[in-house]
This record gives sequence, structure tokens and C-alpha cells, in this order.
Amino acid sequence: MQPVFRFAPSPNGYLHLGHAASALLNSDLARRAGGRLLLRIEDIDPIRSLPVYEAALHEDLAWLGLAFDGSVRRQSEHLATYAAALDGLEQRGLTYRCFCSRAGTARRVAAAEAAGTAWLRDPDGAPHHAGPCRELPPDIAAARAAAEPHAVRLAMARALAECSAAERVVPDWDPATGTVTPLHADPSAWGDVILGRRDVRTSYHLSVVIDDALQGVSHVVRGADLAAATAVHRVLQRLLDLPTPLYHHHPLVLDEDGAKLSKSRSSPALRDLRAAGLTPAAIRARLGFG
Ligand code: GLU
Repeated sequence: MQPVFRFAPSPNGYLHLGHAASALLNSDLARRAGGRLLLRIEDIDPIRSLPVYEAALHEDLAWLGLAFDGSVRRQSEHLATYAAALDGLEQRGLTYRCFCSRAGTARRVAAAEAAGTAWLRDPDGAPHHAGPCRELPPDIAAARAAAEPHAVRLAMARALAECSAAERVVPDWDPATGTVTPLHADPSAWGDVILGRRDVRTSYHLSVVIDDALQGVSHVVRGADLAAATAVHRVLQRLLDLPTPLYHHHPLVLDEDGAKLSKSRSSPALRDLRAAGLTPAAIRARLGFG
């Protein structure tokens, strides 16, 4: 089978060198493997995804000399697909509705920590679910859901009861040697992750596993900052009966201070580097691509 790679940016800022590194790596690996390279726009966030960033990312990727196969998949055009998968998980009793606000959670966690109770945090530093929502009787949760904004969380303990130990392993692919190492994954480190956000009935985790499967992605190559999230993706693949691709998490491009480049920090966007006179060849060289 022909290998399928993908680059999946979120249009909530301009692309920077870290994105360029990931896109170029996917492109080089796809070319070397005689595979296909797909582009997916991860634009489920209705507030932060902006047309100006989406237009810019097409322009920046074309400037870098990257070409993609097939049509571009925009997640905002497939919300019904993700919602249907979430409905299925809800019907199987694997989720619960969560009415906690961010401020309410922060207050509960601060009170617990002030009283000397350490509160579990996920690998991204966010506190695990803190409220009573998981224990609400279903009729009460349903009545509240009709009137109140709410998220939908995966009941992680129930989900894990459906996964064997082997199904929690991540197949870690080394592009240099082609070897695949089974890595232990720890989904419970994430607690009851959100699968349906308050504003849109899906989440990054849910949409990404569905799209990787629907697009036939065989090799997921993305930054090391997403390595821990793969544990959640494995669980969702098991629950939704989706295939598991091979995974490679590449090192992140760091700025001069050794900090991760990100859209929220003042990392120069590719378009700024272009305006400053850098060529695509110079970008490739700076990122270590031949
Ligand atoms: N959309 C994600 C991002 O821009 C990448 C998701 C992925 O590669 O799985 O960080």
C-alpha cells in the first residue's frame, strides 16, 4: 500500500519555522517513500480560526515549494461526522456531560491546593476534571444539558476498561532506520479529556483520529509536543474501531533562548522571514534540510 503522510496546521496564526520544519519533513519522507502528502486544515475552533491565516498558510506552503496530493480537507466542513462519532460514544456510556467553567475549575483546584491536596494535571499542565459532573444522574445531566452550556468528556476509566494493554501501545516509527518500536502510552495521564467542546461538538483529539483514518494516513509525523496526546488517540482508535497509523514525533525547532517556537510568542512568521529577504532554500538550509 502506498504510504500516506499529512501536514495538519490550525489556521489560528501565521506559520513559523516550526511549521515549516514539520511540513518539509513530511514532504521529504513522503517523496522518499513514494507516498502521498495530504494537507488538512484543523479549523474546528470557531473563534481562533481565521480566513486570513488560512489564506496565508496556503501562500506560505506554496512559497516553500510544497505541493500536496488530493483535495484539502477542512475540518469545519465535517463537523457532522465528528458529532456522529461522539453520539456513538455517548450512547455506549463512555462519556459524560461537563458543566464546569474554566473559572470554577480554577477555583476548586486552587482551594484544594491551598488545603494541601496536590491536584493531578495533564501533560499540558491543565488540571484534571475537578467537578461533580461525572457522578451526575443521567436524567439530571440531560435536563441541565438542555439549558446550560456544557462540554462532553471521555470517562477515561470506563474507556480504558475496553482497551487491552496491547491496544495502549504506540507504534513509534524511526524514519532513519524504518524500525517500529512499541512505546508504552499513558492515556490516564490526561484524565477525562474533552471530546466535545462547549462551542463545537468535537475536539482536537476526536477530529484528528477520525480524519487520519478517513484520509487513510499511514504515517503521522508531527512535533514532539504532541507525543503525549498520542496516548489518547490510541484509546479513541480502539473505541471507534479505527486503524492505528505509525507515529513519529520530531524534535521541535527552538528559538535562540531554547524555548519552543509558537504563535503566541514573538517567533518570526515565515512571511516576516520572506519579507526580510530569506529564500525558501535558506529556510531549508537553516532547518537542516538538504
Ligand atoms: N493542528 C495541530 C497543530 O497545528 C497539529 C495536529 C497533528 O499534527 O496531529 O498543532
